[in-house]
Amino acid sequence: MSALGGLGRWWGLSGNDVPEVPSAPDRLRGGFWGLLVGDALGVPYEFTPPQRLPERRKLDMEPPVAFLRSHHGIKPGTWSDDGAQALCLLESLLEKDAVDPRDLMDRICRWFRDGHLAVGRDVFDVGMQTSRSISKFLEGVPAMSCGRTDEQGNGNGSLMRSLPLALWHVGTDEELVSDARLLSRPTHAHPRSELCCALYCLWARRLADTTDHPWMEAVEILEGLFPRGTREREEIDAEIRPREEYPAKGSGYVVDSLQSARIAMRERSFEDVVRAAVAFGHDTDTTACIAGGVAGIRYGIRGIPKRWLKTLRGRDLAEPLLARLEMVRERAGKQESGGGPGNSTPEVPPRG
Ligand SMILES: [Mg+2]
Repeated sequence: MSALGGLGRWWGLSGNDVPEVPSAPDRLRGGFWGLLVGDALGVPYEFTPPQRLPERRKLDMEPPVAFLRSHHGIKPGTWSDDGAQALCLLESLLEKDAVDPRDLMDRICRWFRDGHLAVGRDVFDVGMQTSRSISKFLEGVPAMSCGRTDEQGNGNGSLMRSLPLALWHVGTDEELVSDARLLSRPTHAHPRSELCCALYCLWARRLADTTDHPWMEAVEILEGLFPRGTREREEIDAEIRPREEYPAKGSGYVVDSLQSARIAMRERSFEDVVRAAVAFGHDTDTTACIAGGVAGIRYGIRGIPKRWLKTLRGRDLAEPLLARLEMVRERAGKQESGGGPGNSTPEVPPRG
């Protein structure tokens, strides 16, 4: 646990609110809007190999006229399945005040069938693995048994929706890891996918804490939870390889997505991070969604270009959820700083 404790990271307790560092509320808003903006930015370029993309500075919500965009007919600034499912997760966490994989699947099914939390109720981008898990769930299979467990079940569909857990969670790092894994399982139940979600959430948490080496600190925490010889540690060391230089591929494979986001985060502004993520090509909306979430935390809401926020559609769907998340965080922050019942121990019981 950082010096900030479990709760202060999001609500004005950091002592780091110097001009270069966004305030804690700005980091929270940045993460929330960053993932939606990143997704929407990537949508027109999805499936395109990097060599066929416009040059990087021209990657925008509205692609250059000559570019043959994907998802023809979808207006610029529209988030896809990534954003909608992330909002489903946030809504579930807020409504249930707990980690509830079954409730998450209920909401993801509402998205799939009725366009719940999709802009204009338009469902236009559905991952294969998630689609298969939804079908099983609708046939009556329990949520925790719907996800693929085999090697081929390591698409990025659970990683892309997982950031809201890190934005909402007040428990320990160990609980965050456990909950991230639980929430991956209904669609992506291979340990590699689960651990990528966990590492991403830990990374987001360390970024929120404005620590010096957020990625490596997150890696050390994850490694500390899984000693050598465990199946999880084998996955971390041999497959996720978080300590190694990893090529940016921008594919739909969960490790590629997480590592591509890590590489994109070497850029020095929100704009450059998400453009770098799109420039890797292929699964551009998801890579930019994953990178956009963590870039939004690092650079804060003020770091996201206003023109992109203005172009983003569906804000009426997202804003009420953000407002509720902010209230939860504010209340939790006050309890931690004000000597209330949650002063040294979070008032909210461990999740899940
Ligand atoms: Mg998508």
